[in-house]
Amino acid sequence: MQTNFSLEQLADPHVAESEKILRKCVHCGFCTATCPTYVLLGDELDSPRGRIYLIKDMLENGRPADSETVTHIDRCLSCLSCMTTCPSGVDYMHLVDHARIHIEKTYRRPFKDRFARAVIAATLPYPKRFRLALRAAGIVRPVSGLLKRIPLLRTFAVMLDLAPATLPPASAAARPKIHAAKGARRGRVALLTGCAQPVLRPEINEATVRLLTGQGIEVVVAEGEGCCGALVHHMGREDQALKAARRNVDAWLKATEESSLDAIVVTASGCGTMIKDYGHVLRLDPGYAEKAAKVSAMAKDITEYLAELDLPEQEARGLTVAYHSACSMQHAQKITTVPKQLLKRAGFTVRDPAEGHLCCGSAGTYNILQPEISAKLKARKVRNIEATRPNAIATGNIGCIMQIASGTKVPILHTVELLDWAYGGPKPAEL
Ligand code: SF4
Ligand code: SF4
Repeated sequence: MQTNFSLEQLADPHVAESEKILRKCVHCGFCTATCPTYVLLGDELDSPRGRIYLIKDMLENGRPADSETVTHIDRCLSCLSCMTTCPSGVDYMHLVDHARIHIEKTYRRPFKDRFARAVIAATLPYPKRFRLALRAAGIVRPVSGLLKRIPLLRTFAVMLDLAPATLPPASAAARPKIHAAKGARRGRVALLTGCAQPVLRPEINEATVRLLTGQGIEVVVAEGEGCCGALVHHMGREDQALKAARRNVDAWLKATEESSLDAIVVTASGCGTMIKDYGHVLRLDPGYAEKAAKVSAMAKDITEYLAELDLPEQEARGLTVAYHSACSMQHAQKITTVPKQLLKRAGFTVRDPAEGHLCCGSAGTYNILQPEISAKLKARKVRNIEATRPNAIATGNIGCIMQIASGTKVPILHTVELLDWAYGGPKPAEL
């Protein structure tokens, strides 16, 4: 794609990077067929190619974002299915990241949207506040119908609908601690405990710690680690995202100074995508660029790390599992076969639902901010999963777990919960 940026514009490293990305796009449109929003809405401006044109126009003209551009960029799930399809290697992820930062800086959203986004950014990334908010949701849930009629509070009504009816107690697995390896120590990893995940499904961290320590791996929950920053990053809140990234970089480098780490293990693929990108998002920070690149190089999805441990083959369990590959797992991190191989080796029969490349509609805060599109994608995803007639669903991202669980009665678990059970842990309560 031909671009017309001035030398002055290209002096901005963000613009220079976006220009390089834009020039790679050859307008072929292959990406449109696999874009969930284009598949649903059929509007070119809700396709990757259409969004790329909108971003180009906005950046090239150096103008503030307008409502049309914001509407179509907001509808993008950041699922990155377009990147898997694109034959030209267009780095849509970093392009849309830049567009979102530009929107946040130059566009004034209506008050109700600013209010809802501010509340989300001040709550979800902080486990204690998130837990409190979910408790409060339990109290006000009966008036959710009333809230839906008040435009200012409609987003909160959506959040109430999404909030789980019961909340599990907080788990010790999410607190800073060194979990000793059982038997001879084979390795040492840091674990990202996450922000929403330990509140919604503390069993995931518990299963991870149990499985890893049982395999002779010491697990460090580093003092000071916390939300990876992805939730606010996808809302264009760059400063808040970078602050979270720097805090985690400091926490993990301190842990590796104490005794070297083999990996930073991540159990939510959305977070894994962000941490693997720390080196990029902090590349312009002289104090952190090198350190962030080091942390990114150490980040591994739990399944990537488990694959290195060569877990023994287990007998068949007579349980059929539909594997839902989160977009951040398959399109962003390109981890496609490893989780399924681990499940098969652990004795599960694994099925691949149709349209596996399409997002379930969770996408961070997307199901809160774009509930209509999200609900359609959820229904489609659940239909495809249920068609495989599974006993259970496995996936590697908390957002997908909560989204799909709200649309089906088939139990849904994190892959690591099933693996933990197969290698000596307790049977998951959902089964
Ligand atoms: S990230 Fe997903 S929703 Fe956004 S343009 Fe690409 S395929 Fe479409
Ligand atoms: S497939 Fe790639 S090159 Fe083709 S229009 Fe989409 S982003 Fe551009």
